[in-house]
Amino acid sequence: MPDKYSGEKPARRTLTAGTIVLALIAAAFGYVLASRLDGLMADKNGVVRRFFVMNTEATITIPAEHGSRVSAEKLADIAEEAIREVNRLMSPVGEDSDVVRFNQAESGQWVAVSPSTWTVVMEGLRWHRLSEGAFDPTIGPLKRLFTFDRREALAWPAAEDLKDAALRVGADKIDFEREGMLLSWKRDGMKLDLGAIAKGYGVDCAIEALRKNGVANAVVEVGGEVRTLGQKPGQILPTPWNAGIMNPRGEGTIVISNISDKAVATSGDYASYFIYQGERYEHIIDPRNGVPLSQGVASVTVIHPESCMSADALATTLSVLGKDEGAQFLREQALGLFNNGVQVIMLIVQPDDAITRIDYAIDSQGEFTEKESVAEFLIFGAAAQQDDKEGENAADGE
Ligand code: AMP
Ligand code: MG
Repeated sequence: MPDKYSGEKPARRTLTAGTIVLALIAAAFGYVLASRLDGLMADKNGVVRRFFVMNTEATITIPAEHGSRVSAEKLADIAEEAIREVNRLMSPVGEDSDVVRFNQAESGQWVAVSPSTWTVVMEGLRWHRLSEGAFDPTIGPLKRLFTFDRREALAWPAAEDLKDAALRVGADKIDFEREGMLLSWKRDGMKLDLGAIAKGYGVDCAIEALRKNGVANAVVEVGGEVRTLGQKPGQILPTPWNAGIMNPRGEGTIVISNISDKAVATSGDYASYFIYQGERYEHIIDPRNGVPLSQGVASVTVIHPESCMSADALATTLSVLGKDEGAQFLREQALGLFNNGVQVIMLIVQPDDAITRIDYAIDSQGEFTEKESVAEFLIFGAAAQQDDKEGENAADGE
C-alpha cells in the first residue's frame, strides 16, 4: 500500500531557511499552476449545442466544469463531427454513404463498408438473430410504402406492393465477409435501414470522442437516445445526470434518476406515425407480418450501462415484440442482457387511457424482476422548464 495511506507519521524534517524559501517558491508556483489549470479545466460557460442530424434533433451538453483541457466549444465541435460522420456513412441518402452504395448494389455484388458501418450492421444482425426476426435492419422496402407524417392516411398500400416488398425484407439475405468488411445482397432490390440503431451508435461515437479528449462530465443526445459522462456539476456539489420518459399521450415526464455513465434509449409511438381509419400506426414495422405497429406498447425505454447502440436496438426490438413476447424475450435473454445492469421500462396505454408502467430488471440477487404500476408523470414548473432549456437536464424521449 502506498505510504500516504499507511497512516504512519512521516519522518520529521527540520526546516532550514533554504527549504522555507524553496517551499514559498513552490507554493507560489503551485498557486499559479493551479489557477492556470482551473482556467483550462473549467470554461467560464458551458456549451449546449443543438443541431439537426439523422432526421432528428441532437443536443450536446458540455458543462463549464467538463474536465478537459480543450475548450467547451471545441469539444462540442468534436462531438458534433463524430455524429455527423456516422450520418454521412449510414444515411439512406448522400454520396459518401455506405448504406446508399450498398442499397444500389445488385445481388451477389460485394460492397466494402467502413469499420463503423460494419460494426452497426453486425450489431443489427445480432439483434435480428436474438429476436428471431423481430428486429430487422432490412425493413427498408416495407417502410417506403408508408408515410409516417402524423397525418390521416387516405389509403393502405396495395396488397401486391406489400407482398413484393415483404419478399425483399430479411436480414438473413445479407452475405458478409469479415475480411475486408464486405457486404452483399442475396436478392435484388433489398434496402438497408439502420434507423433503429444508428442514432445510438452516433451517441456512442460522440461520447467516445469526448472521453478521448479528457472530458469527465457531458451529455450527448440524438433523437431521444442519450448517454452521459460523469456528473452534472452544481454550484455546491455535483449531482448525477437524470433522464426523462415523455408521457406518450399527454403532459409530464417520468424521471429516471441517476443515469450517470449510462445510456438511455426510447422507442415511442408518438414521434412518427400515421392514422388510418382511426388507428395509430407507428414507424416501427413488424417484419413478421409487414404491418406497422399499432395498439402495442406506447414506449419502451432501455437503460444500458455501456452501449447506446445496444439500448437503441433493444428498445426497437421490444416495441416489435410487445408486452407478452417482450417479457418472454427478456426473461430468456436476461443473463446475457442484464448481467451488466440493463433495465427496461415499458409504457402501455389502457383502453380507459390510463398508462401502465412495467419495469424489468435484475435484482441484487441476480434474479429477473418484473414490476407493474400505474405510470406517474411529473409536470415541471416554469423554473424546471427553464433549467431544461439550458440543457442541464438530459431529460428526453423520442
Ligand atoms: P427507433 O426509433 O430506434 O425505434 O427506430 C425506428 C426506425 O427503425 C424506423 O423509422 C425504421 O427506419 C427502422 N425500423 C422500423 N421497423 C424496424 C424493425 N422491425 N427492425 C429494425 N428497424 C426497424
Ligand atoms: Mg432504436
